[in-house]
Amino acid sequence: MSGAEELLRSKGLRVTRPRLAVLDVLDGGGHLEVDEITRRVRERLDSVSTQAVYDVLGALSRAGLSRRIEPAGSPARYEARVGDNHHHVVCRGCGEIADIDCAVGSAPCLEPSVSHGFEVDEAEVTFWGLCPGCRARRSADVRPPDV
Ligand SMILES: [Zn+2]
Ligand SMILES: [Zn+2]
Ligand SMILES: [Zn+2]
Repeated sequence: MSGAEELLRSKGLRVTRPRLAVLDVLDGGGHLEVDEITRRVRERLDSVSTQAVYDVLGALSRAGLSRRIEPAGSPARYEARVGDNHHHVVCRGCGEIADIDCAVGSAPCLEPSVSHGFEVDEAEVTFWGLCPGCRARRSADVRPPDV
């Protein structure tokens, strides 16, 4: 049995070829959009519908085997790095996403000033900025003479 099969079984999920393929794709790292995941799954399996990939991602996310992130203004992305409360930095220019280890390590890593009686279990932290590529492009920009 492969590690991925064991992983699925340990979460009570049936082992299917699409699930194994999606896990394998996510295992390659990064924060992937559904289109990209579907494209890579199709390199491994002949016929998989986009809907099937959505269904697999939903099942994997509910089981805690993948994490779904959705930065404002960007489509949902999925990653295999789960359970460590890491954060993300998103480029305002091109949408690139990088992982940032949580400085505290466990959720919630920010204390709310007022909890309003809620038992707070997570602070969703997203850092925004410009990636090195966009910074380089920006400083290389030649502005039109009249502006
Ligand atoms: Zn960028
Ligand atoms: Zn991440
Ligand atoms: Zn944190």
